Parts: sequence; structure tokens; C-alpha cells
Amino acid sequence: MRIKKEALELILGASRSYHPQEFGGMLRGKGDLIEEALMIPATRYGDGFVETRMDMAPMDKSVIGSFHSHPGRDNRPSKADLAAFNRKGIVHLIVRHPYKGIEDVAAYDREGTRIGIEVYYTQTH
Ligand SMILES: [Zn+2]
Repeated sequence: MRIKKEALELILGASRSYHPQEFGGMLRGKGDLIEEALMIPATRYGDGFVETRMDMAPMDKSVIGSFHSHPGRDNRPSKADLAAFNRKGIVHLIVRHPYKGIEDVAAYDREGTRIGIEVYYTQTH
């Protein structure tokens, strides 16, 4: 998978500002490219878990997965994460503290198998 730099920056920035709470949302894209990160207003931020209200998200074909942060150093999915991954989407990102860059991001498919992810730089002038 690839993720546009702007989308990655948004996820990292939001994760930083919600730290030490978890934060989550949806991913929009096409094919193997994540183009946009969407914050979900109804997402509840609790103690050690995030309840991503997929039903509140704008669901259309451009939504290809989800992301959420882990306030610790571990970006492996929890049991609850795996159950959520399996319900929707083809790619799920977990961002770990300190949310510095792509090295803090782990991508998983819907079975919870780790997949590769790299930054996609759009050309700007
Ligand atoms: Zn998690």
C-alpha cells in the first residue's frame, strides 16, 4: 500500500494532539493508494481503546479502511482491532507513539496480516 504524504501528516498530527488518548477515523483511496484520512465525529475516545463508529462514517466505495492510534510503542492490533478489521475495508493502519513518521505506522489487511506501506509524494510546484 501507499499513502499520500498529506493524509499521513493529518493522521500523525491528529494522533499527536489526542495523545495519550486513542484517535481514529476512516481512509479513502483507490487501488493501493490511500488518498485521504477522514476524522469521524462520533468516534469515542476512551481509556485505552477507540470505538470507531463505522456506522457514522460516510460509507461509499472510496472508503477503503480505517486508522487509529496507539498511545504506546506497540502498533500491533488488539483482539478488538482484529474483529473490527475483519468487518470492513482492505487496509487498516495503527499509528504508535511518538507518531513521528511512516516508521510509526503499521498497515494490516482485514485478516490482521501486516502489509507493507510507503509514502506517496505528490508533485508540488
Ligand atoms: Zn488498537
